[in-house]
Amino acid sequence: MQSAPILSVVVPVYNEEQNLNQLITRTLNACKSTGNPFEIIFIDDGSTDKSHQILTEASTNNPNCIITIILNRNYGQHVAIMAAFAESKGQFIVTLDADLQNPPEEIPRVLKQLQEGADVVGTIRTPRHDPLFRKVCSYLTNKMVQRTTGVMMHDYGCMLRGYRHEIVEAMLKCHERSTFIPILANSFARHATEIEVQHSARTAGDSKYSTWKLINLQFDLITSMTTFPLRLLTIIGGIVAALGMGFGIFLFVMRLVHGSEWAVSGVFTLFAILFIFIGAQFVGMGLLGEYIGRIFLDVRARPRYLVRQIVGRTEEMT
Ligand code: UDP
Ligand code: MG
Repeated sequence: MQSAPILSVVVPVYNEEQNLNQLITRTLNACKSTGNPFEIIFIDDGSTDKSHQILTEASTNNPNCIITIILNRNYGQHVAIMAAFAESKGQFIVTLDADLQNPPEEIPRVLKQLQEGADVVGTIRTPRHDPLFRKVCSYLTNKMVQRTTGVMMHDYGCMLRGYRHEIVEAMLKCHERSTFIPILANSFARHATEIEVQHSARTAGDSKYSTWKLINLQFDLITSMTTFPLRLLTIIGGIVAALGMGFGIFLFVMRLVHGSEWAVSGVFTLFAILFIFIGAQFVGMGLLGEYIGRIFLDVRARPRYLVRQIVGRTEEMT
């Protein structure tokens, strides 16, 4: 038995049989090169190819060093990572994709940042090898996340990331089903840094994200960080109602000036009234949204805060 791991590497795997052998060797070497006790946790996310056989074999050959968790079906990358977080024992946890787009050789650099005090280490892919459409989507998402969370990170799409154990524990206490891990982590991080890492094109297998899955992920991402879209209803409603009222006043004045024949004998007035009501309806929906948003935040039951240290208590705590 080796000593408790300092480093846990977490890798979600979904039909990656072509990449696994190389991945396992390279990740093992990268971890060994750090000189720290480590564990590599693979989660087989319901693969239908030979992935879980390859992983099981690797784990049998390297007990306590390579751990394989096999999920009974496909739950998605972020859920799979959560399952591995629950098993991870390391003080520092690094997540990695199984497709070798993030070179495992970067793990020691991520670990170094964590050991130097970072709670969360993000990575920027340079140069990035993904289709243009993906790059544009990522750019827009990153900008939006920066705006709403206030955490400055340039690349949320890259899953080669590092987390301190406390942050992972806090994430495990979040009971929501739809999660987007990098953003969730940042909501608990005090000290987040970013480093640039190599990124290569996928050499084997296909991307596991179809356009539909990407759209789904986008919604997970937005709803995991903000209930602002619900508030948008109130804002839009307010604007429509105000415009309707302005239009009404304009019609009234024009009627006084030009007489009752103006504005098609009141048809326009009807429009003004209609706009005001439509706006009012939106405001009503927005108000409902505010309540639903709060219910949503409460049912997720995320921890409200994380205590870093308690000073001045002398008796041993269990
Ligand atoms: N993955 C997973 N479950 C899924 C989809 C993907 O565990 O339902 C894993 C996949 O095996 C890979 C990582 O998540 O290790 C990222 O997937 P992929 O490379 O297909 O995403 P992309 O690079 O296209 O964003
Ligand atoms: Mg990939």
